[in-house]
Amino acid sequence: MSARDYLRTGLELFHDRRLSDLSYEHFQVALGNLAISIELMIKAVLACKNLTLVLTDLPLELEVLCICPKDIKNDSLFQRFSVDLQSGVFKTGTFDECLSKFYLFFPSVRERLGAHMGFLSRHRNVCVHSAFPSFRRYELDRFAYTALLIFDAVRETDAFRFSPYFLSEKDAKFIADFEENRIRKVEEAITKAKEKAKSLNGSQLRCTDSDWEHLAIECPICGNSAFLVGYTNFDVDQVTESEYNPYLTFHANEFYCEVCGLKLDDYWEIHQAGMNTEFDYTGKLDQWYADEYGYDYM
Ligand SMILES: [Zn+2]
Repeated sequence: MSARDYLRTGLELFHDRRLSDLSYEHFQVALGNLAISIELMIKAVLACKNLTLVLTDLPLELEVLCICPKDIKNDSLFQRFSVDLQSGVFKTGTFDECLSKFYLFFPSVRERLGAHMGFLSRHRNVCVHSAFPSFRRYELDRFAYTALLIFDAVRETDAFRFSPYFLSEKDAKFIADFEENRIRKVEEAITKAKEKAKSLNGSQLRCTDSDWEHLAIECPICGNSAFLVGYTNFDVDQVTESEYNPYLTFHANEFYCEVCGLKLDDYWEIHQAGMNTEFDYTGKLDQWYADEYGYDYM
């Protein structure tokens, strides 16, 4: 079965169970199919760009052939490995490894869906191979929402241009419901956190330990220290033909305050709560070079 087949099967089962309002344990097969579809579509996109992005431990000759196919004049080399390539002899990289590579080609997916993909990465093994974890309805929905949006993002790539997945009426209705429910979800989370904050006696928690994936900020509800979770991205602006300005940006895609309990599950929810999702880290470039390359970069 292909990524598209798993997606179609997973969504049909998901809609069927969701609309009939069955209990959560009936979602196991649907989520298993959706998790497999997401992994396959990411690997298909990478494989179309270059097989070495997906396959690990390739024989040296095959690796060179994949990287520089036009420069290798030995036709028999490909024939020697063609059966193995079609037989699935070679291992593929882990989901997280492939996801990190995928983000390099689709940075906007990381920004918009990074938190959902992180959730999926943490739960995919248990959904595919063993007992279904105890999920809330929102957590079930974010699996299907992520699968649909990832497929939408890769629709125009070589891997899927000639075999796209077209949204069904149920898919479109589900996406609209999910996005509408998020507005209510954020409002309820803020109301609940404000209620809890009323019983607190002033600020209690102070913490400034930020790193490249966590940024300590003041909670907008209770004023205590809380963390934005996300990632730091290095990029450059070209000023002239030979002059470049490097810059760093922290992108937030989750927020949690331990004191008032305010929890926001993706970049959109953080934005909806009136908080920034991007922070300029350019002043920390020296530290970034030191952490990335292990020495002071001057
Ligand atoms: Zn708080």
